[in-house]
Amino acid sequence: MMDNPFAKKLGFGLMRLPLNNPDDMTDIDRKTLQNMVDVFMERGFSYFDTAYVYGGSEEAIRETLVRRYPRDSFTLTSKLPIFAISTEEEQENVFQEQLQRAGVDYFDIYLLHNVNVENYQTAQKLHTFSFLQQLKSEGKIKTLGISYHDNAELLEEVLSAHPEIEIILLQINYLDWDNPDIQSGKCYEVARKHQIPVIVMEPLKGGTLAGVPKEAEKLFRQYNPDASPASWAIRYAAGLDGVVMVLSGMSTMDQMLDNTAYMQNFVPLNDEEHRIIKEAAAIITANIAVPCTTCGYCLDTCPENIPIPKYFSLYNNKMQTIDLFYYPQQQYYENYTKTYGKASDCIECGACEEHCPQHLKIVDLLKDVAKAFEIPAPHEQTE
Ligand code: SF4
Ligand code: SF4
Repeated sequence: MMDNPFAKKLGFGLMRLPLNNPDDMTDIDRKTLQNMVDVFMERGFSYFDTAYVYGGSEEAIRETLVRRYPRDSFTLTSKLPIFAISTEEEQENVFQEQLQRAGVDYFDIYLLHNVNVENYQTAQKLHTFSFLQQLKSEGKIKTLGISYHDNAELLEEVLSAHPEIEIILLQINYLDWDNPDIQSGKCYEVARKHQIPVIVMEPLKGGTLAGVPKEAEKLFRQYNPDASPASWAIRYAAGLDGVVMVLSGMSTMDQMLDNTAYMQNFVPLNDEEHRIIKEAAAIITANIAVPCTTCGYCLDTCPENIPIPKYFSLYNNKMQTIDLFYYPQQQYYENYTKTYGKASDCIECGACEEHCPQHLKIVDLLKDVAKAFEIPAPHEQTE
């Protein structure tokens, strides 16, 4: 492990990598990724965050980073997909597969992925924390932690029961701080109380805080014309006490160049910037119809093959379109329905909602999507 893996507070999140085909999350553009990895390393950053379920990401980082840089020059984090595991034996097999995929002998940081009520129960049943401690004693993981997606009350229970947890990955951004479903602020306070270092995920809320409504962007640009909306969000998260790393899921070289520029010599937000960000948050909240982060955790479970995050993204864009007569999202929607299930194909089985870390009421929201994009057949139209 590096002397100080947290010397610079920006980590390369590998969930949304550059793609050759935007409809295939596993078709990663390795050439672009390699160039991005090189820029990241050249500029003195060294923290990479992958996971078993980030389609093809562990293998891609093996080829673009692990095989090309000395092992002690970077920090690599991965995660155990407890939600996809049902036996203790499978736990071991998945971990071995991850080492192989990533081409390493150990992970610097290894997290129990997506701890929530259900996954915590599974972890208890499978003695997962003992398994992780065993890996640590064997030197196969250097630091043991969790990534967390539930309320502050459960987090208190988990951290009290497992003092072996050394680090935590929390969803923190200026929009979710007081969100009653995400509880960013409350969960952060629990982690602080237990003196656990915090790594931040979703500082941009799945890109929402990079492409903010015009009014909010105007506020940011009036104060500093050169600072991107993304930079405000990442600096907000990185400035919190106890936050040792902020992950940004970069998928283009432009994002890489922008993020590494302002995080090179990180400066926390000042009081005036905090005031502006509050004002911007109110504008953004009023404009978002569906706060989906496009994580894709709901996708594998859908028996109707409904591309839930794609539809939510189109819906959000349509809701922000002022022109009532022309909105290109309609065409995109119709294109998608030729390959995937329609929003109205949802059979309300609820499987997706169980996996949604944002606790979205997906079934109801898909009804809104269907209303917005699907023209009812004549016999379904009311008079
Ligand atoms: S509730 Fe609807 S969208 Fe969700 S998994 Fe079931 S069919 Fe798919
Ligand atoms: S609906 Fe939920 S699980 Fe699905 S992509 Fe959006 S945030 Fe992720």
